[in-house]
Amino acid sequence: MSLREQFAGWKPRLWAGWRPNGLGEQKPNHYRDIARVAWANRAHPAYAYQVLTKGACDGCSLGVAGLHDWTIDGVHLCTTRLDLLELNTADAIDPLVLSDLGPLRSRTGGQLRALGRLGHPMRRRRGEAGFRRVSWDEALSVLAAGLRATTPERAALYLTSRGITNETYYVAAKASRALGIANIDSAARVCHAPSTVGLRQTVGVAATTCSLQDVIEAPLVVLWGSNPANNQPVFMKYLYLARKRGCRVVVVNPFLEPGLARYWVPSNVESALFGTKMCDLHVPVRPGGDVALANAVLQRLIARAAVDRAFVDAHTEGFDEVVTALSGQDTDHLLGLAGVDRPTLESFVDELTRAGGAIHVWSMGITQHRGAADTVRGIVNLALAQAAVGRDGVGLMPIRGHSGVQGGAEMGAYATALPGGLPVDAEHAAALAARWGFPVPGRPGLTAPEMVDAAGRGELDVLWMSGGNFLDVLPDPRAVEAALGRVPLRVHQDVVVTRQMFVDGDDVVLLPVATRYEQEGGGTETTTERRIVFSPEIPRRVGEARSEWRLFADVASRVRPELRPAFSWPDNADLRREIAEVVPLYAGIETLADTGDAVQWGGRHLAVGGVFPTPSGRGRFSSLEPAEPQVPDGSFVLSTRRGKQFNSMVHHQVDPFTGAGRDAVFMDAADASALGVDRGARVRLRSETGSLDCTVTLAHLPARTLQVHWPEGNALIAGGPDRREPQSKVPDYNAVVTVERLDPEPD
Ligand code: SF4
Repeated sequence: MSLREQFAGWKPRLWAGWRPNGLGEQKPNHYRDIARVAWANRAHPAYAYQVLTKGACDGCSLGVAGLHDWTIDGVHLCTTRLDLLELNTADAIDPLVLSDLGPLRSRTGGQLRALGRLGHPMRRRRGEAGFRRVSWDEALSVLAAGLRATTPERAALYLTSRGITNETYYVAAKASRALGIANIDSAARVCHAPSTVGLRQTVGVAATTCSLQDVIEAPLVVLWGSNPANNQPVFMKYLYLARKRGCRVVVVNPFLEPGLARYWVPSNVESALFGTKMCDLHVPVRPGGDVALANAVLQRLIARAAVDRAFVDAHTEGFDEVVTALSGQDTDHLLGLAGVDRPTLESFVDELTRAGGAIHVWSMGITQHRGAADTVRGIVNLALAQAAVGRDGVGLMPIRGHSGVQGGAEMGAYATALPGGLPVDAEHAAALAARWGFPVPGRPGLTAPEMVDAAGRGELDVLWMSGGNFLDVLPDPRAVEAALGRVPLRVHQDVVVTRQMFVDGDDVVLLPVATRYEQEGGGTETTTERRIVFSPEIPRRVGEARSEWRLFADVASRVRPELRPAFSWPDNADLRREIAEVVPLYAGIETLADTGDAVQWGGRHLAVGGVFPTPSGRGRFSSLEPAEPQVPDGSFVLSTRRGKQFNSMVHHQVDPFTGAGRDAVFMDAADASALGVDRGARVRLRSETGSLDCTVTLAHLPARTLQVHWPEGNALIAGGPDRREPQSKVPDYNAVVTVERLDPEPD
């Protein structure tokens, strides 16, 4: 943005205050953070600079090529990217450090990452004190032998999303199927799997229907259970630009996150100086109350004749059934379930009616619940009712937190999808088998939580993981640890050391891999707006780390040498040509070769003209029955929240937005008073799964609801099949807890 543009059209009514850069306020200090990161990367400043100026960010899913994106002029950079930078410039660990795990077991994930990069293949047999360095040949022979010795049903692959490229996901998906293994899953399972289910069933496609440009052009943005200020920081710059054009913002969340109330956009003079009010209406829905809220909103849109009947009649189905179902639901009862009062409901409906449609953005606050797929359908209902798809400034946006989750599922590294996001069934498997030249399993495999279930039952012989950390990511870490310990062979390939590597097993192998920037031939990611973005190779050798797409191909060829030709790409440009053939959606990926090269599948909008990629060509309304909460007297509903972190990687012990430490429990003042505790008091939370000692932080929350940081809060969250969203299998990261005071009573 030019200086002239910077100073044009300042809007004092949007200013958060008069203190320059919010001096003295509880807020992130972006400029200090940049200085801190520069210091942390001082060992390889030139390489860090190249990553920032040439690479596609390995943080969240907004997508950027170097320092520029496809949405705004000016610099696109945030502290999340800077915090991740250190992983890309660290040097290899001395292998001897891992020879005795005793001193390492008590270290946090952050302390283990600070050791440096995993640089050499390592192996640890049961009874050994630690890992010993082995050759690549030995490491891969162990893995290949393990895969040959078992049946495909007793083997599983899991890939997490940070930094993993589409090329790696594709080769992993192909290798897995070549070995007959249907059990392949990725991190999308624990975040947006319910969005995939809910969107596919209603609008026919599991992706954002609009583009980030539409955020800037939107009349209204509704943020459902989403905190982009923390998780996709540059989104706040888009929102700032949108608000200067008159966009209004509604936040639907139990807690009005401070970064969504006011935000200081560091790269804009006006916002950096005075901050920007970001929220016009806060709807403090109770955890799990979103379906009831969406139903109540739709009732009121219908009652006010604010539904776009022409669109509904011409382009949707199921609306009359929804009207009938809603007529049997009492609005006051719905509001009771949602925890929202009537004036707030009417204000929300006012906003939607005035705008004539919105961009509905949602995230983990919606998806990590037992009823998540229904909630997604409830949000889709509102969008369909207002024709808020397929045109500028409106849309459905399940905003992704990781640069790899959209592509992971679309490349078929997913238990419930083949490449192209196609369903896993006999017909699609046969078509893929014809293309690939080997049989492809025609049934869905184990999802990530189901892999752990199977491990716990002793039904898994090989667990092969690229990145990921089930110990931190899945509920009930004690049960996860016990389950992992029962797998005879675990193989962890990663760029750093994680705690799950230390879980005892008969045989544990560590494989060092290259980052996306070091990957041979570069690679692509798919952003939240469906843009396939190229990140060039920025050469660097760290120990013996290898490119993962080569690694998956190598293992498949070792286990099934007769299939070697199917895994012998001379370079990954050739691999991208194959992806373009197998996944027609990704046509154009084969042309990408440099920083800034990108192609957006589907174009700016999906469902243009009301034509949906569903069997009937229509968008589908859903009749939804809200769940009745089951909270015994004296108990609280606990949800998990994020601080300054990226996925389970905690970057700061104190959240700069809230000032809360990692052990905080967020509690409303009225609940705290009823419990006889105050800010700073120590309390013990107990659930059926475990307990967690916390420090009380006062926050304005719905009555009898609490929040603790994730992944620490996993100790309170129950695992098990009945605690998952039934179709997508995402764990429900909420619990019913009691609170016990640990401090002596105040005088
Ligand atoms: S907002 Fe997301 S894509 Fe952009 S720099 Fe930050 S982490 Fe990277």
